[in-house]
Amino acid sequence: MTDKPCVGFHPHTESKITVWGFPPTELINHKGEVVKGNKPVNTAAFAIHFQLHQTRPDVNAVAHAHSLYGKTWSTLGRLLDPLTQDACAFYEDHVLFDDYTGVVLNIEEGKRIATTLEKKKAIILRNHGLLTVGNSVDEAAWWFITMERSCQAQLLAEAAGNPVLIEPEIARLTYSQIGSAPIGWLSFQPLYDMIVNQEPDLLS
Ligand SMILES: [Zn+2]
Repeated sequence: MTDKPCVGFHPHTESKITVWGFPPTELINHKGEVVKGNKPVNTAAFAIHFQLHQTRPDVNAVAHAHSLYGKTWSTLGRLLDPLTQDACAFYEDHVLFDDYTGVVLNIEEGKRIATTLEKKKAIILRNHGLLTVGNSVDEAAWWFITMERSCQAQLLAEAAGNPVLIEPEIARLTYSQIGSAPIGWLSFQPLYDMIVNQEPDLLS
């Protein structure tokens, strides 16, 4: 999980659960105990991510941030519509967590979010923001980035007029073309290369 851009691509094998941000690199176990580093962990992040990893063994990475368009869209309490080709990556593959009870600090709240997510790739946390998952950090990061942009696109389109929705069967077809895990991973590679070129010490 990342709290800062361009942080979080270090290979790690000790645990699926890694908390970055404040502090930037800490590795924790499934009890929330620090096993690498000596600084406090992000309790809210652990409460959400731990339960997701527990209930979704296929998930190796979770992306969550309070990005501007994602958190703005989350206040509407709505799923994204299939307005664009890119938004079809989430067609029938994201859910709404229609509740907000303050900062998620306990495991039970994380469990409710994980239960709501089911087998989907993304969840809109009402009045909070977006959360995406993936088999790899690359995939989870790409879904987050393109979902954030899809929120921006729908906000812009609805502010400008009455956008035309892609028809369900076409949205499903498009989903089958761009919504898979390999495509998510692949789509992130140009960004990964750019980040590594700009910040080569990332890999050190
Ligand atoms: Zn959050």
